[in-house]
Amino acid sequence: MELIIGSHVSFNKNEQLLGSVNETINYGANTFMFYTGAPQNTQRVPINDKLTMEAKTLMTKNGIDINNVIIHAPYIINLANPKNFDFNVRFLKEEISRAESLGISKIVIHPGSHVGLGVSLGIKNIIDSLNLVINKNTKVIICLETMAGKGSEIGRNFDEIRQIIDGIDLKDKIGVCMDTCHLNDAGYDLKDFNSVLLDFDKIVSLKYLKVIHINDSKNEINTHKDRHENIGFGTLGFDTLINIIYNDKIKEIPKILETPYVGVNPPYKYEISMIRNKKFNPDLINQLSK
Ligand code: FE
Ligand code: FE
Ligand code: ZN
Repeated sequence: MELIIGSHVSFNKNEQLLGSVNETINYGANTFMFYTGAPQNTQRVPINDKLTMEAKTLMTKNGIDINNVIIHAPYIINLANPKNFDFNVRFLKEEISRAESLGISKIVIHPGSHVGLGVSLGIKNIIDSLNLVINKNTKVIICLETMAGKGSEIGRNFDEIRQIIDGIDLKDKIGVCMDTCHLNDAGYDLKDFNSVLLDFDKIVSLKYLKVIHINDSKNEINTHKDRHENIGFGTLGFDTLINIIYNDKIKEIPKILETPYVGVNPPYKYEISMIRNKKFNPDLINQLSK
C-alpha cells in the first residue's frame, strides 16, 4: 500500500478547496489538512460548490482520496471551558456541516484546556459539548488530538483521551489524531514507537487512530512545550520519524506535516521528498532560507 502523506495547506475564500488541492499537488503529496478559515478566529465564508466540484475532479486525476483529507478545527475553540459552551457547540456544528458539504469525513480538534477548573471538570465539559454536537446523522469523525500538556491542556496522555471517549455516546463518530511533536513533549519516548503504539492500543484501542501529525520537536522529551521543528532537525530526528511513518501497523493512516515555514518558504515539498526517499538532507534549512 502506498504511503499516505501530505501537509497542512491553505484554504482561502477565492479558491477554497481547489486552491488547497493545487497546493497539495505542488508538494508531491497525496493528502492534505486545512483550516476552513483563520485558525485563530471563527469567521468563515460559505462553501462554493462549483470550486468543490472542480477540486474533486482534480483530486481524482491526481490520486488524492478525499477519505484521507482532514479539516482542523480552529484552536480558539475550547470545549473544556464552559464559558463558551453555546458558541463552541454552534461553531463545531457549523464546521461539521462545512466538512459534509465538502465531502470531508475527518475533523481534528484539540480537546481543550481546563483553565484552572481541573482535569476532571475539563473532561466533563469536553464530553458534554461533544455529545451535543454529535448525533446519529453526523457523517464526520471528530478526532481528538494528543497534546503536549502545555498550560492546562487536556489530552496530554492516552488515559485522558480514553476518559473522553468513555463519555461519548456515539463512539463510532469519534477518533484520535496523534501528533509526534506533542507526544514527545508530553513524555512519550518515540524512539520506541512500537511500545507507544502498544500502550495506545491497550488504553485507547488502535481502531480509534485516524490521523497522525508528523512533526519534529524543538524541545526535549517531557518538556510540555509544543514547538514544531522541521523533519530531521529536531530532538526526534530523521530516523525516528521515518520509523514511525513506515510502521506497518499504521500503514493506512494519513500522515500530515505541520512543520514550520523556513522564512517565507513552505518546506513540505522537500520534506515529503526526503521522506519518500528515506534520505535526510541536512542542508535543507540552509537552502530554503536563501
Ligand atoms: Fe493541532
Ligand atoms: Fe498537530
Ligand atoms: Zn502543536
